[in-house]
Amino acid sequence: MNILIVEDELEIAQLIRETLERESFVCQIASDGLAALEIFKRQQPDLIILDLMLPKLDGLEVCTRIRQNPTPKDPYILMLTAKGEEIDRVIGLSTGADDYLVKPFSPIELVARVRALLRRSLRHGVQSKNIYQTQHFTVDLDRHIATRNLENEAEETLELTTLEFNLLSTFMSYPGRVWSRNQLIDKLWGNDFFGDERVVDTHIRRLRKKIEPDTANPTFIKTVVGVGYKFEDSQQ
Ligand code: CA
Repeated sequence: MNILIVEDELEIAQLIRETLERESFVCQIASDGLAALEIFKRQQPDLIILDLMLPKLDGLEVCTRIRQNPTPKDPYILMLTAKGEEIDRVIGLSTGADDYLVKPFSPIELVARVRALLRRSLRHGVQSKNIYQTQHFTVDLDRHIATRNLENEAEETLELTTLEFNLLSTFMSYPGRVWSRNQLIDKLWGNDFFGDERVVDTHIRRLRKKIEPDTANPTFIKTVVGVGYKFEDSQQ
């Protein structure tokens, strides 16, 4: 897997490279937007870690240009932003970024995000079913969009964080399956998770707020006492 790191702060760029090379990724560094586009054209990386504030061309512009000229190997783009730095524009992801990370971040967090994105790309290769649909919800993994199905074929986009999106996709990949907290952690964080498994409960609570009509009596995400959680909804 080839990763292009676009970051003008050399220390950060090298830290990212060391972190990813420890995980056996092959990395290149570009320190401004124009250099990034040059390397992108020559090397066709699988994933681009793209800082927002860059000399010459900023990250949003680089992202837009890459998405405007689709290549056979459409790279995943992970945006880096400093806190408060136009996060809204990045979160909107209208530029075509797949995910974003706010600085400062830990190496563990970075590796988890990179792995999650590349897992998605591997999945593209082996199966074409990138949409999960139940009676009330649709998750489109390619477009990274989750929607609530309304009557008359209308739909309402759910505003989910990446974690909530991954949680919902995991549930919808196997309705009715009971997941332990540890199994959900494996799915969402991979092997890089260190911490209290109760962190799952926090994300379940947030996701319920966004999808349940009554969070006190959940219809879709059910607690299975002593085990974990399951998702229930009729199949379409
Ligand atoms: Ca920068």
